[in-house]
Amino acid sequence: MFEENKKLYLEKYGFEHLQLKAVLFDMDGVLFNSMPYHAKSWSEAVTKYHLDMSPEEAYEYEGRTGKSTINLLARRSWGRDATEQELKDIYQEKCRIFNSFPEAEKIEGAFELVKKVSEDGFQTVLVTGSGQVSLLGRLNRNFPEMFQKDLMVTSFDVKHGKPSPEPYLKGLFKANIHPWEAIVIENAPLGIRSAVAAKIFTIAVNTGPLPDKKLLCEGANVLFHSMPDLTSNWEMLRDEIS
Ligand code: MG
Repeated sequence: MFEENKKLYLEKYGFEHLQLKAVLFDMDGVLFNSMPYHAKSWSEAVTKYHLDMSPEEAYEYEGRTGKSTINLLARRSWGRDATEQELKDIYQEKCRIFNSFPEAEKIEGAFELVKKVSEDGFQTVLVTGSGQVSLLGRLNRNFPEMFQKDLMVTSFDVKHGKPSPEPYLKGLFKANIHPWEAIVIENAPLGIRSAVAAKIFTIAVNTGPLPDKKLLCEGANVLFHSMPDLTSNWEMLRDEIS
């Protein structure tokens, strides 16, 4: 099933082989079911400032910084960038609404997959655009001893967020590996663009409302429709790429 995808990937970059050493996990929409809350809080917050974004549109921008999302909407509705004050106020409101929601649950199948990956002896690396201070505690509670602090890339580690390749390149650097020794698991179009730009074999998991083509057209090498779907195919995938 994956043989052809693998062949196309190797040909594209001129790599000789894939030899898996680490799995790079995105967080929102891959490990935690936090995207519905992000989408709702974005939509509600910007509406208060007479900007317009449906919850579904928020999924398209997942991974962008708050500032660039607000400016994109401001240019569209106001014909100009937001001022520093507007950026601050709108983003604060978004965070206030987001924090009023309960803590996001693990995505079904995520725990089982991370457990399999760890038990198979591969490194688990977290690569997220999030910069929440509570992130480490939340990860440890939900995925105990499955992620190490020195193998995490958060918004504090990078200058440019996704879709820049920087977060995934930093993940490779921290794990001390080459692109052909890793795979990425991503749910968002811009996250996929970032991983593909870092030349890493990218597995898209469509856990949100966007059509598959939005993920595939960013260059994902394989697509699954849910985390349980990926988890139950893990052994086959692993044997193909290690
Ligand atoms: Mg995500």
